[in-house]
Amino acid sequence: MKKSELKAFKEKLLALRARLLGDVHYLAESAMNRHGEAPGGTTMPIHMADLGTENYEQEFAFSLLETEEATLEAIERALEKIEEGTYGVCDECGAKIPKGRLKVLPFASLCVKCAE
Ligand SMILES: [Zn+2]
Repeated sequence: MKKSELKAFKEKLLALRARLLGDVHYLAESAMNRHGEAPGGTTMPIHMADLGTENYEQEFAFSLLETEEATLEAIERALEKIEEGTYGVCDECGAKIPKGRLKVLPFASLCVKCAE
């Protein structure tokens, strides 16, 4: 892969990481706020229906968080691979990862075959 191409992928990964870090922070905060007390310290009446919705939303926020953390790990790995000079090479079988795949998933560390 050309140095200029590698640089473009690195910039893409760094931008993606920055965006995800912002999102993860935001999600962690909104998930935590749900544990907090109501403003003014008044005890809010709890309705079962509301509780269900709250729990669902909280689980949803946490499931997003998990996915984003996994994505962040993949981005870190891809950045490592750029430093190692193995970016664009499958971690599993050593085959070249098609550039088309890297454009869609710049943090892919496996070829299509191994990812499946
Ligand atoms: Zn492979």
